[in-house]
Amino acid sequence: MKPLKGKIETRTTVCPKCGKPAGSGKFCNYCGAPLGTQRCPNCGAQVALGLKFCGECGSPMQKSGKCPNCGYENEPGMKFCGECGTKL
Ligand SMILES: [Zn+2]
Ligand SMILES: [Zn+2]
Ligand SMILES: [Zn+2]
Repeated sequence: MKPLKGKIETRTTVCPKCGKPAGSGKFCNYCGAPLGTQRCPNCGAQVALGLKFCGECGSPMQKSGKCPNCGYENEPGMKFCGECGTKL
């Protein structure tokens, strides 16, 4: 366990949007873009957090394919629930 105070080497993230050191927060110090990346469920490309569609293939960036009707966890990118057939 490391103490959470004192000098800690903070990992500087480079903003995927503006390309500048964005600091260690959740948003870029320069442009306010959300930091971090997620993987496209379709093509596996790294897509910046906050984007709704993959820049490579245009797939929607769903975090999960959880069915709004029955709650079944479908594979991300599925169009219909495998359990009840509801459109996702
Ligand atoms: Zn930025
Ligand atoms: Zn993609
Ligand atoms: Zn369902």
